[in-house]
Amino acid sequence: TRRLTGKVALITGGAGGCGLAASELFAAEGAKVGIVDLPQSQGEAVAQQLRDQGYEAIFAPADVSDAAQVQRAVETVEAAFGAITVLMNHAGILAALPFLETSEEEWDRIMAVNVKSMFLVTKAVLPGMIAAGGGSVICTSSISAVVGTPMEVLYCTSKGACHMFARALAVEFRDRNIRSNAVCPGFIATAHGLREIDLLKQHGVDVSEEAIAAAQGRLCRPDEVAKAALFLASDDSSFVNGAHIFADNAYTAI
Ligand code: NAD
Repeated sequence: TRRLTGKVALITGGAGGCGLAASELFAAEGAKVGIVDLPQSQGEAVAQQLRDQGYEAIFAPADVSDAAQVQRAVETVEAAFGAITVLMNHAGILAALPFLETSEEEWDRIMAVNVKSMFLVTKAVLPGMIAAGGGSVICTSSISAVVGTPMEVLYCTSKGACHMFARALAVEFRDRNIRSNAVCPGFIATAHGLREIDLLKQHGVDVSEEAIAAAQGRLCRPDEVAKAALFLASDDSSFVNGAHIFADNAYTAI
């Protein structure tokens, strides 16, 4: 049996990387999927592909750091499918640069896309989710929320905020049957992950294949993040709330 039958999922960053893997997996598991991603992303093509396979999916373009665009996108998904009962706050961007070379503009941009976005999207989605009787919020955090990865003060700060956003939300909304958890991947073989490795190399950090193998065995696959998110989205995790699930092959356990 499919694990998300009857659920309406909104996935930010759902057109690329692990977000795309989650869009595909959630649709295959029976959810109606609203893909929220940048207007210039592959969102429309991904939604069309899912519809061609007989699934229900729409693309609702938005920059998740823009309140008006977020509101429009959430309304679009709700108008198409009804109240959102699974929200995956996945969109996020990378910053890998020396702290002393970090500009105020860069700080504000990363915090807006990685942190403020969760506030905007979740605030827009929760009234409908509450009225529907509850749901599940999944935030894509990172090993960088608990490990100070080099050249990533800004990125780690944003992921630390994401980590606690997921946890504190769980406490405030558990009496309304809303669960909130985080998935925390290690290095993943996506555009984001490969660019990160490239940038870190430029800044002299050892992220060679050997170094990554020593830290986490191999790169994480996007579907491995999506499957952890599926568990949190589904009723299989009905009593898992405020948790951080690491998909890092014990990187942070060592
Ligand atoms: P990715 O770059 O492959 O895909 C991210 C998607 O988000 C893209 O489709 C992009 O268009 C979209 N996006 C970016 N900015 C957006 C915005 N302002 N509004 C709407 N959509 C936007 O990345 P990925 O590897 O899937 O990673 C995304 C998430 O996973 C981030 O939250 C990141 O912090 C986290 N993460 C990634 C890694 C890694 O190694 N790749 C590790 C740990 C955590």
